[in-house]
Amino acid sequence: MIKAPRGTKDLLPGEIEKWHYVEKVAREISEVYGYHEIRIPIFEHTELFQRGVGETTDVVQKEMYTFEDRGGRSVTLRPEGTAGVVRAYLENHLNNQPQPIKLYYLGPMFRYDRPQAGRMRQFHQLGIEAFGSRDPALDVEVICYSYNFFSKLGLRDLKILVNSVGCSQCRSVYGRALTGFIEERRESLCNNCQDRLEQNPLRVLDCKEPGCQAQLEGAPDIHAYLCAECSEHFQLVQDYLELTDIEFEINKQLVRGLDYYTQTVFEIIPNGPDQGSLAGGGRYSNLVEVCGGPSTPGVGVAIGLERVLMALQEQGVQLPLKQRKKIYIVTAGGEQSGDLDREAVRLLLELRDADIPAEKDLMGRSLKSQMKHAGRIGASYVIILGTEELQSGTLLVRDMNKGEQSPISRDRIVEYLKATLQED
Ligand SMILES: [Zn+2]
Ligand SMILES: [Zn+2]
Repeated sequence: MIKAPRGTKDLLPGEIEKWHYVEKVAREISEVYGYHEIRIPIFEHTELFQRGVGETTDVVQKEMYTFEDRGGRSVTLRPEGTAGVVRAYLENHLNNQPQPIKLYYLGPMFRYDRPQAGRMRQFHQLGIEAFGSRDPALDVEVICYSYNFFSKLGLRDLKILVNSVGCSQCRSVYGRALTGFIEERRESLCNNCQDRLEQNPLRVLDCKEPGCQAQLEGAPDIHAYLCAECSEHFQLVQDYLELTDIEFEINKQLVRGLDYYTQTVFEIIPNGPDQGSLAGGGRYSNLVEVCGGPSTPGVGVAIGLERVLMALQEQGVQLPLKQRKKIYIVTAGGEQSGDLDREAVRLLLELRDADIPAEKDLMGRSLKSQMKHAGRIGASYVIILGTEELQSGTLLVRDMNKGEQSPISRDRIVEYLKATLQED
């Protein structure tokens, strides 16, 4: 037996309905916030992620699905959505249209990571990206979008962490100060952090190792290093957040794992034991340029849908999954079942043409087990079609909930069921 690759999962009927619902809410909220869908390729040239995500990140160094195609080009299954959206923004000249350009995407991402609860090698994200505006109100819009998406789904008790990592200028001054501070404690850091120190010292701040956290006691404060512009921007983000009823927490350790963030970064996590973040995002002022375009500000968020579904389950949220009522046609055949089968097929066609969900037996089941099957698939009504009914032109319609049967004339049956289903 060939099994699905490690870290991938089949989404089967029974579970997929939850995904449909979550995706529906995503599309609705995107419309409310003025974001339009973009569909970008699942794979891109490897170089896009090397440049756009950053050579020094764990994602690029350890986690990408990279391979050579038959033409000898190096391609990579997208490990995240932002780089591809930036490429599409430039390639399709969206930068020449009136700004801001506000886009959302939904779909699978791929990372070669150790699979665990809520972390798959093929996982799914909802993300938004907004280009062309430096207004801090846009940062807050992205935070509100994420928070409201979760609230609309029924998630409660979430924590929003916000920070500013500054622009490339103030950030590099801070990086030097931090490196200077950490240098003396270098030997006490984990291997990862020792490697990170040269490439991106800020990453040490969000190392989860308790040993590394202990070394950060008394480390320079990033906010003290923000330039006037970054400082004002961060203040406005907080002011606008105060206007919402969303509670947030400033977290100076929050830097996010990707190199491209500047100024605002944020995460939304469930309160309680650490299960990783549901959403993470921020502003990126240099990414469009890094990807070969003109200097253009951007801000975005990525939301992990597997984690969202896990959180919904943990919080016991019942999603309002609506199923259309359906009809099951039962034939009580015996000898002349040929005529009955023909009539059942005809009736099935008529019901479906009238946009009524309907099914009939396809397994040659007995009357009794057809009734049982109707119950199993959750049919609301069963039409019973026997020799007698065929001759009299009157069919029996059984209401499966009430357990009542009513005779309905064959000529009126479609009309009758249509009306009945509408009433329910
Ligand atoms: Zn700055
Ligand atoms: Zn560390």
